[in-house]
Amino acid sequence: MPREYRTRALVLRSSDWGESDRIVHLYTEELGRVSAIAKGALRSRRRFPGVLELFSLLDARLVDPPRSSMLRLEAARLSRPIEGLTDSLARFAVGCHFLELLDRITGEGEAHPGMFPFARGVLEVLSREEPDRLFALLLLAKTLARLGYRPQLSACVECGAPLRGRVGFAPAQGGGLCPRCAPEGTALLSARVLDALERGIRTPLSRRGELGLSRQDVDRVEREMLGFFRFHIGIELRSAEFLRGILASRQLDGPLGRGDTPRARAKDASGDPEPDGLRYSAPARPPAPEPGQEAVELGESQAPGDPECPEDRPQTPFPRSG
Ligand SMILES: [Zn+2]
Repeated sequence: MPREYRTRALVLRSSDWGESDRIVHLYTEELGRVSAIAKGALRSRRRFPGVLELFSLLDARLVDPPRSSMLRLEAARLSRPIEGLTDSLARFAVGCHFLELLDRITGEGEAHPGMFPFARGVLEVLSREEPDRLFALLLLAKTLARLGYRPQLSACVECGAPLRGRVGFAPAQGGGLCPRCAPEGTALLSARVLDALERGIRTPLSRRGELGLSRQDVDRVEREMLGFFRFHIGIELRSAEFLRGILASRQLDGPLGRGDTPRARAKDASGDPEPDGLRYSAPARPPAPEPGQEAVELGESQAPGDPECPEDRPQTPFPRSG
C-alpha cells in the first residue's frame, strides 16, 4: 500500500511536465518542502481547478508510491483564498521573494514546527498591506529566526555583556559585539538599531512603524542582515534584485508609492528636501480578521501562539569562537 498524507500546503512554484502533468513544489505542514507530480493536471483542468497557482493554500492529499522517487498529488482543493497579492507590484514582489526563501532555504522533507502557519500569516498580512523595505527586511529576519538562524542582538556574542552605545555586528559569530570585543577597525552601529531589529522579529509586521527606525537605520540593518544571510545561507536569491528595484521607489510615510502620499506631494511642491530622521510611520491598523479566521496578528507583540512571532529562541547554530 502506498503511503498517503493529508496535509495543508502552500504552492511555491509549478511547471509543466510532459504532455499532461504538472510538477508542483509545495511547502506542507506535515512534510515541509516537497515536490509532487500532479498527473493529468494539464489534460483535465477539472482535476485541479485553479489550485496549482503561486500562493495557493491547499488541503492536499499526497501519495508516496512504491518504486517512485516523487510524491504524487492525488487531490487538492483551495483551503483559503488569499486575494490581493497581485494587486500591486510591491506585494507580488515581496510575496515571490518569500516563496523563493521557503523554496531555497528549507530542506526537502524537513518540517519546521510553526513554519506553515507563519507562512500563511505572512501571506494574509501581505494581502492587505503595502510592503516597504522594512517589511521585507523583517520578513527575512523572521523567516531566518524560524529556521534557527536568529542573530543575537541584545548581548555581545563573545562575552555576553549587554549591548549599549556603539557596537559591532559580526555575521560569522552570529550577532552583536560590545566595543571591547569588536576587533579594531570594525564599523560600529548603534545598539538601539539592533534592539529595534530584535523587537521587530517579535512584533507583527503590521506594527513595524512602532519600531522607530529611520530610513538610514533601515539601510544599515539591511546591510548587516544581508551579510548575515550570505554568510549563513550562502546563496543569492533570484528575486532579490527585482525586489530591491520595486521597493527602492517606495516612500516611507504612507501606504502608497513615492509621490503618491499627501505628505510627499506637499514636500515636492515646497521643494523641501526630505528631512533627516524621517521615520517609518505606522500604517493604519488592518481590519480585524473575519470570524473563523485565525488571528495572525494578535494585539500583543509576544502573544502566545501568534504564528508570526517566534516565542522561543531557537537553538542558534553559530559556533562560539575562542
Ligand atoms: Zn563583548
